[in-house]
Amino acid sequence: MPHILIVEDEAAIADTLVFALQGEGFTTTWLNLAEAALEYQQRTPADLLILDVGLPDISGFEACKRLRRFSEVPVIFLTARDAEIDRVVGLEIGADDYVVKPFSPREVAARVRAILKRMAPRAAEPIPVADPGGPFRVDAERVQIHYREQLLVLTRHEFRLLQALLAQPERVFAREQLLDALGVPADAGYERNIDSHIKSLRAKLRQVAADAEPIQTHRGLGYSYSPKSA
Ligand code: CA
Repeated sequence: MPHILIVEDEAAIADTLVFALQGEGFTTTWLNLAEAALEYQQRTPADLLILDVGLPDISGFEACKRLRRFSEVPVIFLTARDAEIDRVVGLEIGADDYVVKPFSPREVAARVRAILKRMAPRAAEPIPVADPGGPFRVDAERVQIHYREQLLVLTRHEFRLLQALLAQPERVFAREQLLDALGVPADAGYERNIDSHIKSLRAKLRQVAADAEPIQTHRGLGYSYSPKSA
């Protein structure tokens, strides 16, 4: 039975989530502070975190960044404002999904189910470890990619994207196939964010080699890795 850790300082909101999730057969733990949740997750890892952005001690964003230093557990953010949404769907935070308050607890439970379902086969099936040769060197264990002998400083999503592209040179990946590589549910409205990740990835590659274009855009189709242009 999956265990969901709810981090929310408003008891009324936490209560509705606990009720909805338990009704779906999940085990739940509710904490109202981010620091306590991080400690808890280190001791007793939950299967998924629901994390409020506005918490009394540190923000949900900061908490997620700290969490990502030791855990890849899926995170759903609870956000209150449009300004927060921009950051949640931004690149650096490493969230898997978000819901905007006020929300329907059933909707949250459905997202939890969708993410856990998406995660399950991924755990059984390791990401292919491919060393593409050429200018890229992928070290899956260390979660590192070198390009022309330089270590790329990548976010988790950028690493996964580049790893997926490099594993199959010249294959054109549709955005939803790349979402798959990220473990993000394709129905969560994240497809356009692939473009942002690619943009930021390209900027990092360009810092190493200004005139190379290893990631090619195929209009209306998606992206591919082209060794010829690397
Ligand atoms: Ca709050």
